Amino acid sequence: MHDDEQRFWRDKPLDALTDREWEALCDGCGRCCVWKFEDADSGEILYTDIRCASFDDNHCRCQHYAERKMRVPDCLDIRSFTDAQFAWLPESCAYRLRHAGKPLFDWHPLISGDPASVHRAGISLQHKTVCGDHFSEADIIRHIIDPDEPGNDHAV
Ligand code: SF4
Ligand code: SF4
Repeated sequence: MHDDEQRFWRDKPLDALTDREWEALCDGCGRCCVWKFEDADSGEILYTDIRCASFDDNHCRCQHYAERKMRVPDCLDIRSFTDAQFAWLPESCAYRLRHAGKPLFDWHPLISGDPASVHRAGISLQHKTVCGDHFSEADIIRHIIDPDEPGNDHAV
């Protein structure tokens, strides 16, 4: 692999990425695959540990990625996001970081060379989500989480 190809995650703007580079940029954290709410007053995005029905908690990935829009119409296409919509993504998200011109963290698999580093760093939601069936509104509030809570030391 040439150096230029190795550094696409650092040097190329998002809209110049090939499809393959775009997909490789995802760190596999799964944070975009849980139910979230926007606080009407503050605009803050609140995370829950309730997963999308298509999210595989064991492997921390979408089970139906190719046909996800058919199965989950609410699933958003990051590639067509407006500037404002990038704020809906977690601050650790590679797409949000690169959209803001920031570098990836050392735990990103493209930097570490190890897909599991995102899990070891405490960034991913692997084994941390619950099934989204049968939740009342009161239940949902009890499932709000802080994905950056202490204990996530971000070490690779
Ligand atoms: S939050 Fe971003 S980096 Fe993490 S899984 Fe979703 S798209 Fe990929
Ligand atoms: S359909 Fe797949 S990619 Fe979309 S939110 Fe659900 S698990 Fe994530």
